[in-house]
Parts: sequence; structure tokens; C-alpha cells
Amino acid sequence: MKKIVMKFGGTSVASGENIRYVANLITNYVSQGYTIVAVISALEGVTDKLIEASEQAKKGNRNYIYEFKKEIIEKHLTATRKAVENKPIREEIEQTLKTTIDELEKVLTGIIYVGELTPKSRDYVLSFGERLSTSIVWGTLRDLGLNAQYYTGKDVGIVTDSNFGEASPLMNVTKHQVKEKIEPLLEKGIVPVVTGYIAATQDGVNTTLGRGGSDYTATIIGAALDVDEVWIWTDVDGLMTSDPKIVSSAKKMPELSFQEATEMTIFGARAMHPRALEPAMEENIPVRIRNVFNPENLGTLIVEEQRIKPGDIVKAITLVKDVALVNVSGAGMIGAPGTAAKVFDVLGRENINILMISQSVSEANISFMIQRKLLERTVNALEIALLGRGLIREVTAEDDVCVVAVVGAGMRGTPGVASRIFSAIALRGINIRMIAQGSSELNISFVVEETDGEEAVRAIHEEFKLDKI
Ligand code: ASP
Ligand code: MG
Repeated sequence: MKKIVMKFGGTSVASGENIRYVANLITNYVSQGYTIVAVISALEGVTDKLIEASEQAKKGNRNYIYEFKKEIIEKHLTATRKAVENKPIREEIEQTLKTTIDELEKVLTGIIYVGELTPKSRDYVLSFGERLSTSIVWGTLRDLGLNAQYYTGKDVGIVTDSNFGEASPLMNVTKHQVKEKIEPLLEKGIVPVVTGYIAATQDGVNTTLGRGGSDYTATIIGAALDVDEVWIWTDVDGLMTSDPKIVSSAKKMPELSFQEATEMTIFGARAMHPRALEPAMEENIPVRIRNVFNPENLGTLIVEEQRIKPGDIVKAITLVKDVALVNVSGAGMIGAPGTAAKVFDVLGRENINILMISQSVSEANISFMIQRKLLERTVNALEIALLGRGLIREVTAEDDVCVVAVVGAGMRGTPGVASRIFSAIALRGINIRMIAQGSSELNISFVVEETDGEEAVRAIHEEFKLDKI
């Protein structure tokens, strides 16, 4: 029978009722003979609250921490009362939650005393969200008669580097340790319930895998155990051909490749942690995105070898907002090796991430896209570092733009895709400001005025008849 890692996050564990519902779902799969490892995220909104609390602690805001503690206790106790019916189990979980929150309060008090919040102590604070939620799910599963056991990511052997806030797993050690730890449990019929998002360095110091990191935990464990599939349970039916708020006829995609999914997560489809597909890709483990509230629907399956159907050219279109276009120009750039390196070096040093790049063969200008909130810093940094040195004459910027990204593995080697995209855009009278296509040919991205963005997405969706797929 199938071995599955299931990750539950966001709204699927938003309340006690939902936790009970999720626990029933897990129990059903177990009784059908599935072997399951459950990975749990923090209750909805809790990670954001922990971030705010750690900031307030740094500022010495004792009142805030006092109120925060009351709120966080109440939220988790309420959920427990709704989720766990058996009295002794419920009391045990309530006690665990209280002890855990006392520990959290001590950490926050420590931050108040030293008046300093290091990335390390911040990760310690953030680890509490998953510790609390997972305890409740664990209690609920036991209440339903399942032989479940609670573990943190650290307990099961997920080891990372010490890049706090965005730590990377050391996959070789991790895979070995997770296998050693979890396999004997599964053989004994135990259902491990594991905190998502949190892990530890080799010295045992708490780390987190970056926002949305529970997905990553799930695929790391999945890779270590060589499971049949990893299921990411969320509150949508799967990945869509486009945002249904923009294109009302948008459809769920039944299947796509790891590469296509990677292009989509990068371009803000936000369905998953951007790096979560890596471990799955490496071990070739299919990942399924499914709706916890609609389990009859099989969701979207992400696989290595996606079957390209004839006519399957463009798969999905995303609109990326809150971006800005920066243009660096000057005749001195022509034929001058190292110009691009200088420009990007400045951005790298300023920690500014580039979303998209284009340079025409005339070499007289380089255009790139960044997050809009970084615009002022970007222009300043470039002007200070590069202007008046004969190379660059001007740095200009536009912030009323957006990126349309068109994704699909069938685009590769298919002539005429770009022409169809741009004709569809032209027919609607929309002007294109900048274009980029990587040589992977999986993605064509272009920039239009912000007010034209949604219309451009609809035009392409219609041109490739994505509502009929
Ligand atoms: N709780 C963490 C976050 O909100 C991790 C996750 O939800 O996957 O980012
Ligand atoms: Mg989350």
C-alpha cells in the first residue's frame, strides 16, 4: 500500500474544527492501509504574530508581550477544546501547550532584557508556532484512536546550515538520519506527526527553513523515506491556469512537470515554498497539491516526466505585481566588457534580487525588474556607484508596470508561440515594454503597464484556449 507524506497548512489547521476534520482525514487514509507521515504548519496567522512579538520584545514592549501571551494561549486552548474530546488527552495537551508557551514567554523576556533580536533568537521564537499546532494535531489523532507520535523536525533528524531564517538542509546527513528515525516507527504502525518549518543545526540550535517552509519539510522527509507521493493539502483544488480573480474561466491543471512548477512558484503562484520541489525532484517523488475540503478532487500532480499532450503549449499565465523596471543606459557601455557585472555587483552587494533581465544587442542599455519596494534603494545605489565614470549616462525607472509570465514545457521548440502571444497582446492595443525568454524556453515573460496587466493575461488565456484544457 502507498507510503505518503502529507503536509497540512494554512486554513486546513486554522481552527479546532478544522484540526478535527484533518485528523479524521488522516485516520481514514490509515484505515484504508496508507502509511502516513503528517507534517503540520502553525495555525493560520501565528507565524506572523510571532514575528511581530519578537520585534516588540526587541523594542522592550512588555505590555505587548503580556497581551500576546494571553492571546496565543487562548487561541491554542480554544482549538484544543474543539479538536480533542477525550478528557485526559485534552488535559495533557493543554498542559503541554501551557508549558511550551511559558518557554516562549521566557525567550521573549530574554529578548526584552538584552534589547537585541538576532536571527538565531528569532528562529527560536518562530519555532513555537509549529510546536504548538503539531501538539494539538497529535492529541486529536490519539483521540481518534490512532497510534501517533509527536516529533519536531530536529527530533526526526533534519539538519541544516546556520543560515537562520532561511536555512538549507544538509541533505546527506538529513536523509540518513530521517530514514533511521522514521522507518522503524512506520514498521511498528506508528503515525509520526512532525512539526513543519523547523529544524536544527548540527549543534542542535533551532533553525527555520524560510516562510512557507513546511512544504520543504514534507519533501525533505519524502525524499529521505522514498515515499510514493508527497501531498500538500491546502484550501484550493490545485494549481490553476491563471488567477481565477483575473480569468473567471481559469481551470485547474491536472498535471505539470517539476520544471514548469518551478517556473510558476518563482513567478509568484505562491502555492509552495520555492525550494520545496528540490528534494522531490532529486529523488523523483511526485508532489500532489490537493484541497483538504474537497478530497474527492485529485488536485494537481507535479511529476518529472510530464506527458505533453498535442496542443499543450502554454500551460499557465501569471501576473506579477508590485515590481518596477530599471533601465541603465549610456553609449559607454557599448563593447565595454564588465558593464553588466558592475551593475549586478552593485545590486548583489545591496542584497537586491533581480526578477528579470534584458539587454539588446546594441548594448546601449540594460533593463531589469526588481520588487517595487526596493526601487529607491536600487536607483540610489546605482547612481552612487556608477554615474559619472564614463560608462553609464543615465539610470531611469518606472514603477507603474507589471510582469506577465507565460509558462509551459510545450513551448520549447514550438515555433510561433511568441508570435501568438504578442499578436494577442497587440490586438488588444497593449504596449510591451520589455521581454525576456530564458533559453529553457519554458517561460516567456514580458512587461506591460500596470493597468494593462489583467487584460494581457486574459488575452493569452483566450488565445491558447486554456479554459478548454
Ligand atoms: N508557519 C510557517 C510560515 O507561516 C511555515 C509554513 O506555514 O509552512 O511561514
Ligand atoms: Mg503558512
